[in-house]
Amino acid sequence: MPTSSGRPQEGWTAEHEVEGSIALVGAVQLFRRDFPGLPFPEGTDLLQVLLCPNEHEGSGSDYYYGPAAHLVWRASAEVTEVVGQPPQPASVGGEFVPRPCVFAPCQVVEYPVLDELPDEIKLTLSFVQPGGFVDDDYEDWPPVGQGSKVGGWAFWWQSSPSKLDCQDCGAGLRLLLSLHTYEHKDELCSCEQDQLDPVGWEFGRQGALNIFACPNDVTHAFKLHID
Ligand SMILES: [Zn+2]
Ligand SMILES: [Zn+2]
Ligand SMILES: [Zn+2]
Repeated sequence: MPTSSGRPQEGWTAEHEVEGSIALVGAVQLFRRDFPGLPFPEGTDLLQVLLCPNEHEGSGSDYYYGPAAHLVWRASAEVTEVVGQPPQPASVGGEFVPRPCVFAPCQVVEYPVLDELPDEIKLTLSFVQPGGFVDDDYEDWPPVGQGSKVGGWAFWWQSSPSKLDCQDCGAGLRLLLSLHTYEHKDELCSCEQDQLDPVGWEFGRQGALNIFACPNDVTHAFKLHID
């Protein structure tokens, strides 16, 4: 059994009608030895992100239309029985089903988009006017990476930065993980990549599925946002 499981924040509806239980799809599997910066709960060393690859909707003012996610934090040594052939998901659309891929990760330094900076930092920047207006010559501000990532900052491509709070403790949620429709070549990363083939899923309009988690306790309810 998983040591601890993450759950999404409340207010979700599944739009699909499927009889019985639905096999989830393994979206990503990250080991502590490869990603030591992930906030693994004590006693765990493996994060598995599972998706229900059907359409789900957020409720209220939170617009969301995409897969449901389940985070499983495990002690990998306790996984002794492995299913040979994963069960096929009952998928209505199929646009969130990935093909098997391997990460070629690298580490970069990333800064949030200007709109996400707190005022006490933003107002110290030479190209920001006292009222918060940004001069036209701000292009020197480093870009936010597009592509799948662990940690870092949301790209906020199709929506504006919004403050997301933990429903369990009130802390501001932070980006835990971002799964992108495409891997992009950008100036943050100079690695040679053999190929940048897409995984096969599409989030929003060629965007990213962002998983925001609580910085106090990663097993508090997380929040999904497609951007
Ligand atoms: Zn579902
Ligand atoms: Zn919390
Ligand atoms: Zn790189």
